[in-house]
Amino acid sequence: MAGIQETPISSAAGGAVRIDLGALGANWRLLVETAAPATCAAVVKADAYGIGMAPVASTLAAAGCTTFIVASLNEAVALRGVLGAAATILVLNGLLPGTAKDTQAHGIVPVINDLAQLQEWQNLAQGSDSVLPTVLHADTGMNRLGLTPEDVGVVSNEPERMTGLDLKLVMSHLACADDPDNPKNNAQLLEFLRQKAALMPASASMAASSGIFLGPGFHFEIVRPGLALYGGNPTPNAPNPMAEVVQIKGKIVQVRDVDSPQTVGYGAAFPVTKPSILATVAVGYADGILRALGDKKDGKVWGSIGGVSVPVVGRISMDLLTVDVTEVATDAAHPGAWVDLIGGDAMSLEDAAAAAATIPYEILTSMGARYHRQYVGGAD
Ligand SMILES: *Cc1c(COP(=O)(O)O)cnc(C)c1O
Repeated sequence: MAGIQETPISSAAGGAVRIDLGALGANWRLLVETAAPATCAAVVKADAYGIGMAPVASTLAAAGCTTFIVASLNEAVALRGVLGAAATILVLNGLLPGTAKDTQAHGIVPVINDLAQLQEWQNLAQGSDSVLPTVLHADTGMNRLGLTPEDVGVVSNEPERMTGLDLKLVMSHLACADDPDNPKNNAQLLEFLRQKAALMPASASMAASSGIFLGPGFHFEIVRPGLALYGGNPTPNAPNPMAEVVQIKGKIVQVRDVDSPQTVGYGAAFPVTKPSILATVAVGYADGILRALGDKKDGKVWGSIGGVSVPVVGRISMDLLTVDVTEVATDAAHPGAWVDLIGGDAMSLEDAAAAAATIPYEILTSMGARYHRQYVGGAD
């Protein structure tokens, strides 16, 4: 971790995302320790939650991660290019019709979600005279993806359906893991134990980020964190044990003096009530600063300039938002100066998600393409 170099933020960008790969590594180690003796896989779907699949996966591989999980085959193929042949890559969406050959060609393991996928994978194994690695997803109550309990019964009663396939893992997914008191957690656990017992012996996996913190009963052999790696709080009712990975900043484009009875932005939604100084910042909802974060009158959406809070006023536009910089020293709020918007001295990822009536996942995966992405703290 020697010689951390901060590349200068591109002057061409109106917004920047600072990604701390050192914090990512620290989060990885915390999750590995918490889950031990279970091992940790890393969920890097959706471009590693918008953070950048290649730098994230490379950092985690260097930290010892050997199993990576994505949603779709195109993500898996891209990841294979980053990680090389040794990494195990699972595709949660399984085998979409017509993708079995490509899945095999790239050495990807499909997470089988229904009996038709299982049949297609087995046909390929028998047709190519090879034993193919296989993961079965058992749906234990989410009713979203996975073999139904009836499907599991079929596989259990007709073991020849697994001939030619090497069952590496049986997994399921919790619907309410972020709510430790929810009785659905134990109900799903019991159902998973029942389904697992009906199938041939294999490693098992049930816990994503929040599930890890439900305790060892949910760990089995492999856990599958995503959000917690990226600094999101896996224990929403308690302080965040994870280190901050993502900071979003925007650059001031213009500064102006205003006074009553002027208004700010679209819809004249914010009436100015006193002499104020406003700064217009070059990021907006096209960058993933969700429009729902605008037009809040309760001061719950705020950026920061040098540690001084600057409330967001008026609506969020596509490319711009406005902050009240009246309390900031005039030489700190000028065109070209940076405003922390999420993370750092500004509101946290969780604060922003709450203010937008959404979840940290959506804030992260909404980050737009035109940010300058600055990766710091990685291995040399
Ligand atoms: C996205 C996903 C994960 C990771 O979830 P986090 O809450 O981000 O840790 C794990 N397992 C499955 C099946 C998923 O879809």
